[in-house]
Amino acid sequence: MDENKQKTNRKCDSFFKKMTRQGIALSYGDVRLKTTYSEVLPKETNLVSKFSRNISLNIPIVSSPMDTVTETRMAIAMAFLGGIGIIHKSLTPQEQASYVGSVKHYLNAFIAKPVCVKESDLVESVLKMRLKKGYDFFSFPVIDNSGKVVGIVTRNDFDFCFDSSVKISEIMSKEIEQFSLIGDDIDVNTACQRMLENRKKILPVFSKSGTFHGIFTLADVKRIVKGDFKDYNLDALGNLRVGAAVGVGSDLEERLELLSRKNIDVIVIDSAHGDSRAVIDVLKYCKANYPMIDVVVGNISEGASAKRLVDAGADGLRIGQGPGSICTTRIIAGVGCPQVSAIYECALAVRGSGVPICGDGGIEYSGDVSIALAAGADNVMLGKVLAGTEEAPGITFWEQGRQKKVYRGMGSLEAMIASKASRERYLQGENSPSKLVPEGIESKVDYKGNVSDVINQFLGGLRSGLGYLGAKDILSLQELADFHMITGAGLKESHPHGLDYIQNAPNYSIS
Ligand code: IMP
Repeated sequence: MDENKQKTNRKCDSFFKKMTRQGIALSYGDVRLKTTYSEVLPKETNLVSKFSRNISLNIPIVSSPMDTVTETRMAIAMAFLGGIGIIHKSLTPQEQASYVGSVKHYLNAFIAKPVCVKESDLVESVLKMRLKKGYDFFSFPVIDNSGKVVGIVTRNDFDFCFDSSVKISEIMSKEIEQFSLIGDDIDVNTACQRMLENRKKILPVFSKSGTFHGIFTLADVKRIVKGDFKDYNLDALGNLRVGAAVGVGSDLEERLELLSRKNIDVIVIDSAHGDSRAVIDVLKYCKANYPMIDVVVGNISEGASAKRLVDAGADGLRIGQGPGSICTTRIIAGVGCPQVSAIYECALAVRGSGVPICGDGGIEYSGDVSIALAAGADNVMLGKVLAGTEEAPGITFWEQGRQKKVYRGMGSLEAMIASKASRERYLQGENSPSKLVPEGIESKVDYKGNVSDVINQFLGGLRSGLGYLGAKDILSLQELADFHMITGAGLKESHPHGLDYIQNAPNYSIS
């Protein structure tokens, strides 16, 4: 994204300034976007965006770190669609890291801890081990007794071996330097190039200091380079991107260390009040100890908070205090800001900094995504919209003839009783269950089938919104968008009205 361009004034500035002068803050139901002359067809629009300074998105959608929204399956599905999933933190550090590992290893482009064989193993015992474990591959790094990688074996070596009683050392390729990639900043394209030169199906990777990092495997590397996975959100090594939430709790150091070992792409500091000393301390700890990992911080809803967090080193901001469908913060604590104004004010405060804005909570329809992005968000985070899909955690059950799944706030009584991390999000880590003060509720949502169908409808609506404004991409939308404030009558008119019966559509229902 061109940072200088971002600094320029935007069409919607005078609209929001007028509102601010009058002390009015607006939400999704209060505004619609003005249409204008357009030569842009929805199908030609580009939805590429960013979640944080260094983490790009092919679609501007992020799944929320909630225990009824994002675990392994959802995170894999989101990365396949081009977005990113954030694994929730109501898990032990070990569980959370293992979920992250499952996402990172879902594609086999780069394998950090590959299965190795020993140079002293017999060929026949390796072949037996392969069958027993059900491996469908024949390529292994070969290690000596001290664990040092000393060679590689691939299918050809086994095919040309006529005596399986010999040791692996007799059939392996020993010129390890020749068949490896050495460097600290390696990407999948370089790996592919090297594999083509070597004509070996695996490529061991070593750091310049000689540490063994893992291997690239040909099948997925080839598919990535050929563009078969071009819509997926992949890291430089060709693995799916994934994020994880952390809190301000006592297990922070262990959690971060385990996540970093799994090559986590982005950390989300998950707090109901991001503009607080404890959160800024965690941000500083992350940046000091893991400078290579981007950190997204939240939640906030005021421009001054956005500025403070960016000054403290945030690589992305998560905006939303109270807009969530399952949230009662505004009712229980009386605080927060309607979401469209919150997004605008935070985006304005850090415009030109290159720090992306995530509009988190309150998205119900695809039109809300167009509005959030037009107000200055670079991506939106979804909870309710994704809860109830096949990939969301939890079982389905039947109630009154409808298939349902549980969707609950992380500050609901049920979530806080179940997890200390949830209590910490609402600064109630030490409270006993009878003293907990919930800021969310537990709910049930209709089962929605596959997440890809839900997201496709949302992207279709967003592309249509861009088309109506003549915007070819998200930055153009932000520059071109202007708003109407609407009244209750306008909102009523916007929805289907005056009808006795409404048949649900794939992108519209009245819940
Ligand atoms: P939704 O997409 O409108 O359902 O909102 C989801 C967002 O609500 C999450 O990403 C969180 O920021 C926020 N959230 C999650 N749990 C709670 C809660 O218990 N109280 C308040 N906000 C919550």
